[in-house]
Amino acid sequence: MKLDIFTSLINLLIVYMVFAIAFVITARRHPNLDGPVHWFVACLMFFSGFLGLSLRGVIPDLLSIVVANSLILTGRVFIWAGVRSFFGLRWRRPVFSLFVLCVLPTTVLLSLFTAVWPSISARQVIMSVFPMLVNLFIIRDVYRQRSSTLVMESNLFIGFVVAEVVIHLVRITILMTVSVSTDSYLLGQVQPDKLFFIMFFMLSTIQLLILVTLVSAKLQNELNQLATQDVLTQLPNRRLLLQRLKHGIDMKQRTGKKLALLMLDLDRFKDVNDSLGHAAGDELLQQVAGRIGARLRDMDTVARLGGDEFIVLLEEISHPQDAARVAEDIIADLGRPFQLLANNEQAPEVQIGASIGISLYPQHADNPELLMEQADIAMYEAKQAGRSCYAYFSEELTLAVRKRIDIESRLRHAIEQQELRVFYQPQIDIASNRIIGAEALVRWQSPSEGLIAPIHFIPIAEETGLITAIGEWVLRETCQQGQHWLAAGFPPLTLAVNVSPQQFRRGDINALVAKVLAETGFPAGQLELELTESGLMEHQDKAVGVLNNLRAQGIRLAIDDFGTGYSSLAYLKRFPVDVLKIDKSFIDDIPDLQDDMEITATIIAMGHTLGFKVLAEGVETQEQLAFLQAKGCDIYQGYFASKPVPAKEFAALLAAQYEKKNTDEFNPVF
Ligand code: C2E
Ligand code: MG
Ligand code: MG
Repeated sequence: MKLDIFTSLINLLIVYMVFAIAFVITARRHPNLDGPVHWFVACLMFFSGFLGLSLRGVIPDLLSIVVANSLILTGRVFIWAGVRSFFGLRWRRPVFSLFVLCVLPTTVLLSLFTAVWPSISARQVIMSVFPMLVNLFIIRDVYRQRSSTLVMESNLFIGFVVAEVVIHLVRITILMTVSVSTDSYLLGQVQPDKLFFIMFFMLSTIQLLILVTLVSAKLQNELNQLATQDVLTQLPNRRLLLQRLKHGIDMKQRTGKKLALLMLDLDRFKDVNDSLGHAAGDELLQQVAGRIGARLRDMDTVARLGGDEFIVLLEEISHPQDAARVAEDIIADLGRPFQLLANNEQAPEVQIGASIGISLYPQHADNPELLMEQADIAMYEAKQAGRSCYAYFSEELTLAVRKRIDIESRLRHAIEQQELRVFYQPQIDIASNRIIGAEALVRWQSPSEGLIAPIHFIPIAEETGLITAIGEWVLRETCQQGQHWLAAGFPPLTLAVNVSPQQFRRGDINALVAKVLAETGFPAGQLELELTESGLMEHQDKAVGVLNNLRAQGIRLAIDDFGTGYSSLAYLKRFPVDVLKIDKSFIDDIPDLQDDMEITATIIAMGHTLGFKVLAEGVETQEQLAFLQAKGCDIYQGYFASKPVPAKEFAALLAAQYEKKNTDEFNPVF
């Protein structure tokens, strides 16, 4: 098909005019959006440039070539300028100096090669080198500035600009190597440049089209933001929050995790608005938004619902009390005075508070609307309960969580104030009926509540990580006490210390034990560590390594509460253990329950086969002891011999045993 260059030029002019109109309309509608104005100017320049070229013959050659081509080149610079301002980049040099630096020398060269030393090839090379260089700058800028939301459009644009650069390169190479006849003018009828011309035309049309897409994508983003953002605080609004909440619930359904919704209402906000005016109220809300946001993790969302109502979405919480902790922090943060009108010398200081209602997924509801409603109800409860406090959707949960948090803070205090005690429960060798050791059991001597059993604080200590400090303290205290007894002349005893799974998993138990033994001088061979089955089973391979290292230090190892976890003979064989402690629940119903008696007998036999000592826990009666003795159990521990007692009492028991030595071997010593 024969290409009619004139028709193509007319098409080209129409296309550029259409783009120019599109850009000018955008620029008028969105005066804040930079880029379209430059592109409008560029289109006008392309338009007049190509018009000038198509009028060749009507106007003198020199004028049409030099002026028209310079206009097209300047259009290029404007495209670049548009790209830069679209992405918010400022020129260090104004467009004018760029024009002087780039376009003017090029125009001079073009004039020289047209009028003084007529050379079509040289002229064409200039016409390709110049846009190629500008294009390289454009690629650099777009590549650096593409934002996450405009990445597809930016990449497309880069792709087409790169394509154009490649075509220019090919063209320059051909022009430099092939001799071009003098009449094969750019828009002449015969030269191979026709193909290039069509390509450039298509590519630059596509580039302009992508620029239009870029603009509309950016505007769409801004619109979306307006629709999902609170104008005053720039926080997400109710709509976006609901979207995120819905998404959060979907994710949690898959992962089985929990999330919490905190509905927050400011106390006394109305007073600020009424007394200091709305501007002060607005500023206060902005500062509140900042303080709440500062307390949250990146994954969480704080949104403003309107008025003085905020809502916080906590993604991924482990326990209900995690939400309460965040609520407490936010209440404390918002309770500090706010300094309004920062620029004003007499900046008023205001004090407000916040009430927070908490609902939990999946505990309270499994859909966004219901969760919001429940958080709202809980918030009113919090307000009624006296403001500046939080409440959960269910009252029992509020009370339970408050109690736990209270215990946690008191426990921290207890550790600092040295309110913890170690009690010792004797372990009796069944054959000789003599105390051969003791289990160290922690107690909390609270000044207000008296002696608190570990069941009430060890689980909380495990959840909060306080167990590490407690465990270390018990270990040190026990070793110190043991060393003290040795120094006082008591016979060597095995002292057993409980190690929580948390401690075993997280801390470096080996290093800790070595350190404590070195500090106290207590012999490693007299220390026994009690580990639970579940703690060992969690990371079996790691556990075997840790146990081996402990063993290498000479420490004895016991499996506590044996029979309550998921025991497997395979792991029992792998773990380097010295003692199996049969759980109290199996001993309790001896001699009434045949099953328990059989299980106990089996554990004893199996333990012996595997080379372990077997200890029975919770022995309370003579019958139980007789049964254990008949089955060959090695050691027992239980109220039948003694409850756990303070160190002094334990020492007295030991002393009594000394005195009774050789007299009544077969009765319990106490
Ligand atoms: P455990 O290690 O299985 O300790 C045995 C529990 O059974 C002790 O309860 C002990 O007082 C109780 N007991 C012993 N003989 C009898 C008996 O004849 N009858 C009855 N009814 N109970 C008996 P305690 O002292 O309340 O300790 C409970 C649990 O708390 C312990 O179970 C242990 O898992 C944990 N614990 C105690 N001290 C520590 C510690 O220092 N660190 C860690 N990580 N856990 C500890
Ligand atoms: Mg124990
Ligand atoms: Mg036990």
